[in-house]
Amino acid sequence: MRAIIVHGGAGDAKRTEEIPERVDFVKKVANYGFDLLKSGLNAVEVAVRVVKMLEDHPLFDAGRGSYLNEEGFVEMDAGIMDGSTLSIGAVAGIKRLKNPIELARLVMEKSHHNILIGDGAEKFALENGLEFVPPYYFYTDRIIKIFEGTYGDTVGAVVLDGNKIVSAVSTGGTPKKHVGRVGDSPIVGSGFYANSEFGAVSTGIGEDIMKVILSFRISLYYPNYSISDAVKKCIDDLSGINGHGGLIALDKNGNIGYSFNTKGMFFAYMKDGQDTVVGGF
Ligand code: ASP
Repeated sequence: MRAIIVHGGAGDAKRTEEIPERVDFVKKVANYGFDLLKSGLNAVEVAVRVVKMLEDHPLFDAGRGSYLNEEGFVEMDAGIMDGSTLSIGAVAGIKRLKNPIELARLVMEKSHHNILIGDGAEKFALENGLEFVPPYYFYTDRIIKIFEGTYGDTVGAVVLDGNKIVSAVSTGGTPKKHVGRVGDSPIVGSGFYANSEFGAVSTGIGEDIMKVILSFRISLYYPNYSISDAVKKCIDDLSGINGHGGLIALDKNGNIGYSFNTKGMFFAYMKDGQDTVVGGF
């Protein structure tokens, strides 16, 4: 069984004019990822490629479209986990890289560490030949216009390639965050988690998500509950602490779970024997 679920953030989507394009794009990304799976690529490769596609799109809060912090520059976070080996790679406070998810993957595959931050993380990127971009790459008209924006456009993917489950996440964090703030996204268990049974990725207010360890929280309920019900219970728990966010997941059999307590969440999934399903606002 091969399956993929991707999301483009949970939130209140104040910028309603952007909704159709964002829904379409998330669907396109899920289809692209599934084609890659069918072509035989493994789940790590697919997860990184689809997250990169979302990072390169200016409408999502990751990579190019990252929200600016209080001082007007980006500090991006990303994480990836291979459920078959429990290998983890995460980065935080990235200012100059085009695709933070590539660096998270490098940390997972080529370093002896799980998390690298700031200058040290960028040094590792440089040593490994990743692509750097100048600050103005991030100053799109949209991002300048919505400097007073809302939360909710982080991107993530969970991929099952028939053997293993991989979860990947990337974000610019919350708008106008304090310099140095790290959200849930690079924190294993909160922003992302995968093992041999299920994989999950969270989005929403990182400070809330960490309190309930949202992605790993599924293991409190799954497999006693289906993955779909387990995810719903996790979001109920998030609501229970007045937290806001969304969660996507899939299990080793390709069953899908998604839930959110924000006004909406952009997501799309596809699996063997089933056409793309899109959800949104
Ligand atoms: N969870 C992300 C953070 O708090 C933001 C988001 O999902 O939109 O950094």
